Amino acid sequence: MAGAVSSRILKGIGVSEGIGMGSVLLLPDTAELARRHPPAADVRAEILRYRTAQERVWTRFQQAAAHLVRELGSKDGGTLDIFGLILKDHGISQEIELLIGSGKSAPVAVEQVFQRLANSQKNVKNDYLRERFTVWRDACKQLVMELVGCHSLDAALGRGPVIVAAREITAFALVNPPKEIKGFVREVGGSTDHASILARAFNIPMIIGKAGLLVELEAGAPAIVDGGTGELFLHPAPELLEKYGKLSRAAGARLGGGSDSLPAATKDGHRIALLANLETSHGLNALRRHGAEGVGLFRSEFLFMRRTQPPSEDEQFQEFQRTAQTIFPRQVTIRTADFGGDKLPAFLADEKEGLSTGLRGIRFCLAHEEFFRTHVRAILRASAGGNMRMMFPLVPGLETLRKAKAFVRTVMEDLAARSIPFDSAIPVGVMIEVPSAAIMAEALARETDFFSIGTNDLLQFTMGISRDDLALMDYSRSVQPSIIQLIAHVVKSGRRKKRPVAVCGELAAQPWAIPLLVGLGIDELSMAASHIPMAKERIRGLSYADCRVLARQALALETITDIRTLLKRAEK
Ligand code: PEP
Ligand code: MG
Repeated sequence: MAGAVSSRILKGIGVSEGIGMGSVLLLPDTAELARRHPPAADVRAEILRYRTAQERVWTRFQQAAAHLVRELGSKDGGTLDIFGLILKDHGISQEIELLIGSGKSAPVAVEQVFQRLANSQKNVKNDYLRERFTVWRDACKQLVMELVGCHSLDAALGRGPVIVAAREITAFALVNPPKEIKGFVREVGGSTDHASILARAFNIPMIIGKAGLLVELEAGAPAIVDGGTGELFLHPAPELLEKYGKLSRAAGARLGGGSDSLPAATKDGHRIALLANLETSHGLNALRRHGAEGVGLFRSEFLFMRRTQPPSEDEQFQEFQRTAQTIFPRQVTIRTADFGGDKLPAFLADEKEGLSTGLRGIRFCLAHEEFFRTHVRAILRASAGGNMRMMFPLVPGLETLRKAKAFVRTVMEDLAARSIPFDSAIPVGVMIEVPSAAIMAEALARETDFFSIGTNDLLQFTMGISRDDLALMDYSRSVQPSIIQLIAHVVKSGRRKKRPVAVCGELAAQPWAIPLLVGLGIDELSMAASHIPMAKERIRGLSYADCRVLARQALALETITDIRTLLKRAEK
């Protein structure tokens, strides 16, 4: 008998939470498949083969988009619209056919043309633009797979539970993942690319490892993927299998809803609203499944990210209306587009200068009136059902809030003059994401309907460390004394004017932070929908009176260490 195989842990970055267990299924790299293909003997036949493959991929693409609509609740399968454009691009097709004409096989020609395109984009710094190019690779991959006769994730069918490992995993492949797939490991990609977004939407754990990770894997090896910690366990020991088996079953039970019908209230009856953060209407099904009481943050800028052209007013309107109608009578909070920082859509590539010099969040919109008018009109038109709120991102102070509100008023007047319906009493809120807004909360509270604290940006701007700097991770593992003071001030200012105060940054979903946020007087917590069952369970185990005491104690502390100790003690 062979000797016992030793367990190993490989570390990557988790981009879709959850636990997956199965045997490793290594997918071959398409470039390798293309290289192995024999050269074309008959040029005309090879061109025909390419065109047929293109049509077949196109047909599958349309079927996949329809499936996406059914599964994720979207009418247009918009996540994949760029894919269609690239696949049918006349220039690209011509170039491929020229190469075939020079004697290359169709898969090699496809690979070479797409590789050239990818090389020309490689040095682009912006995350969103870079991730858009993954769609090009996606189109290429699908064509090559069609030409060499091997279909994406279908390799998982009938194999029992598998962890799929590949250099790249494309959005297209992920549209209809076989149920055998329990987890993904890939080398290339980012947490905001299409594949990550879809993995999260389907609740399949995914991690991204560094280049070369796949070499360390062996096909068929038993494995566990922890999409929360980013760990991949190979040949896990029986104890680990048991531990993760339990965790996975518990997570499954939570996904099933568990305490769905019960309110998020503390043992002594203090009610907290639990809402979901949403990037596009694709996440609406998950929202229902996890029992969200509404949408606390609709990151509307994501509508613009995957587009070569900004969506028209009607397209924006339909997306917002679809969301509002689906969750009616619960509320949806649309945040006006928050461009800047790491969020620069393709169609604004020329604006890079402007954005880096401070035109971010609401300031960008106010400086681009035509764009903002279309956007606000779409939001207002979709508000006609009466369950919508609007909020402005990165508001620095009162003047900016006044300008934004005045702008909205002019759009309202115009709609009214044209008898276009909208909710004239739509609540308008302010995101508290910069210290300047937190400090001025009292003044802002007089002129706003609600606050939503964006702790992700508030933390980076308060600590002076960029969000994508790993050093900030350390600070985000606890609550800073300064952040506690700022939140307390915002809550107090909101309360005086009877304005509800929400937290919609990542802090809202940290189990150790929830008692403190409740004690500080936060009314709403908004988070990724999949975290809602956990947050509800947490809140139902708390006493509001104890949380109040905890918050008072925390407000008197001056160091992170003291606060960590306090929160740990409160756990016992
Ligand atoms: C935040 O800053 O905390 C927030 C919720 O907004 P975003 O993460 O989209 O910047
Ligand atoms: Mg923010």
